[in-house]
Amino acid sequence: MMRKIPSEIIQQALYKAISEISYHCDPKVTSALEQALNRETSELARDALNSILANHRISPETNIPLCQDTGSTVVFAELGAELQIVGQTLPELINSAVRQAQKDCPLRASTVAEPLFERNNMGDNTPAIIHVEFVEGDQVRLQIAQKGGGAENMSFMKMLSPSVGVEGIIDFVSEGVLAAGSRPCPPLILGIGIGSNFEGAPLLAKKALFESLGRPHPDARYRQMETEITQRINALGCGVQGFGGDCTVLATHILQAPCHIASLPVAVNIECHAHRHLEVII
Ligand code: SF4
Repeated sequence: MMRKIPSEIIQQALYKAISEISYHCDPKVTSALEQALNRETSELARDALNSILANHRISPETNIPLCQDTGSTVVFAELGAELQIVGQTLPELINSAVRQAQKDCPLRASTVAEPLFERNNMGDNTPAIIHVEFVEGDQVRLQIAQKGGGAENMSFMKMLSPSVGVEGIIDFVSEGVLAAGSRPCPPLILGIGIGSNFEGAPLLAKKALFESLGRPHPDARYRQMETEITQRINALGCGVQGFGGDCTVLATHILQAPCHIASLPVAVNIECHAHRHLEVII
């Protein structure tokens, strides 16, 4: 039997989630930063880590967003085939929640309507970037991110030759993150998509950022790659906010998918320490 749900219920849950993540960093990120502070040997990097951790404490107490770049809203929606949303369509209700959060929180208006010529600000952060997948069941699962421009700007992808293998991918990722330097605001979380195709690999990379921080990959070979990438980049010395030291990357998450025999697409979505991700299931 079809389950019916008024669109306002989903809209309000989404509004609450956007408000929540703009002021509360993922506790797992805070804990990873505390562990990084315990290990850090550079005095400058320790200062920067202490400032970031103080920011994580102050933001929820004062209702001041974690970062001045409050981000663009990205939503991955899994919509059950036995669920009917009554009222607004899914894009309408998502954009309505984004508009309300921008006004009430308030969040910085960070979206331009036209990307090249006028670049006039929309003033309300819409439209959100929305990806919809239809699944079995009567629920809707929304994975929500407020993604900052600095980290997104440094993300990259390439159609590699399958012959480059594991080492070629690790080199490609490490060189790209090192070239980004301080611009994506390290310490970072890396979402890596391997496989699919030209548009699919970046989506995998973005979805990988929703994995629980530091979760071990279920496949030991990819788990080993995640560890090697994190260790290799941390040994290169960019460090917290580019001040040097031991911690450029907090965690690396890989998602993989089937691909064409001639291809090895690899995408890296870089995420800063203001990791604003949340999941809602209704
Ligand atoms: S990259 Fe992240 S921490 Fe840096 S300015 Fe953008 S949102 Fe803020």
